Amino acid sequence: MEQRKVAFITGGSRGIGQAICIALAKEGYHIGFNYVSGDETNPNVIKTKQLIEEYGVEVFSIKTNIASFKDTQIMFDEVIKVFGRIDVLVNNAGITKDNLLLKMKEEAFDEVIDVNLKGTWNCMKCVSKIMLKQRCGSILSMSSVVALHGNAGQVNYCASKAGIIGMSVALAKELGTRGITVNTLAPGFIDTDMTQGLSEEIKQQLVKQIPLGKLGNVEDIANAVVFLTSEKAKYITGQTIYVDGGMGL
Ligand code: NAP
Repeated sequence: MEQRKVAFITGGSRGIGQAICIALAKEGYHIGFNYVSGDETNPNVIKTKQLIEEYGVEVFSIKTNIASFKDTQIMFDEVIKVFGRIDVLVNNAGITKDNLLLKMKEEAFDEVIDVNLKGTWNCMKCVSKIMLKQRCGSILSMSSVVALHGNAGQVNYCASKAGIIGMSVALAKELGTRGITVNTLAPGFIDTDMTQGLSEEIKQQLVKQIPLGKLGNVEDIANAVVFLTSEKAKYITGQTIYVDGGMGL
């Protein structure tokens, strides 16, 4: 296989993750991604692979629950067997289990922390080792505007997304001397399955809080990922970039 750069995106089967896979494929990266639902016959997985292949790059997909460190390690062992390296890691996979604190079950807190925060740690730990050997790489993790600004009904999600920012800044300090950048993206409200459940009324209320006057789309996030993982961003590390139409201002 031609020695192109390799990007791995967690939760690449849908929404923001799928858009990131396509955008990085367009930049010429070979693409690895994981998903958690179904198997290789999952229509989202098939579709994502087709869209990536249109750019003439190699694609590898694997079913893995990133909440398990053991399974995450196996996943990255497989990625290395296929591609031999990882230049870009995008920690995108995430879930919500919303409820007001007094109604929130302990399992809903644990599950969101396990996937969003521990899952990101699992991936960072496995991939840091690979990037340290390469002495280069870029790690970008998906936080959220609510990490800083909060949102009623999301104490679990806000905690996980704020944790990702702290963890990324610490890792940026650990890996900087080896030429590895570690950054965080904080999207605002983006039109995906995750936000499909919101009523039209709530969406309209949200739009009123956004200076740019509209919800974001998946390409808005993918464009920021392309820049932050590119050579042009090689002197940017430990930062959180808000892609939220100004919502957090
Ligand atoms: P989405 O449409 O719900 O897609 C979530 C992706 O994560 C899917 O590919 C899903 O795989 C995967 N996933 C879920 N649980 C997993 C697990 N345990 N192990 C591995 N993969 C798992 O979400 P999205 O809206 O694109 O959001 C992507 C990221 O951006 C998330 O971290 C989210 O918190 C963050 N974000 C989103 C918004 C927004 O407004 N949408 C705003 C701020 C931040 P399957 O397809 O197999 O289920």
